[in-house]
Amino acid sequence: MSLSIRKVQKYLKEKYKRTKPDDMKNTQRYFLKLIEEVGELAEVIRKDQRMTENHIKGTVEEELSDVLYYVLMIANTYDIDLEDCFRLKEELNCNRYGHTLKIDDINE
Ligand SMILES: [Mg+2]
Repeated sequence: MSLSIRKVQKYLKEKYKRTKPDDMKNTQRYFLKLIEEVGELAEVIRKDQRMTENHIKGTVEEELSDVLYYVLMIANTYDIDLEDCFRLKEELNCNRYGHTLKIDDINE
């Protein structure tokens, strides 16, 4: 089953509603967690620690997932639909840099 940005944001929103409703609007906490995860990502990139088979612990793959998690959590604290925002931002980038490829030109 495929994942969309929107689906993951909804999943995280529901998860926190059920488990940590008081934390749902804590932007500062998630921003600090994001910075922590970016630091962890820097370390595994420097050490070139990649995932093998399904062993994700301590790898670039794990830390990229963690970074994405907190980016989406921050978006949720503002009720931002990051999928819509990404599309709009890519349109700006296409116009700015003259790219002709559009997101919807790509099939999953
Ligand atoms: Mg991590």
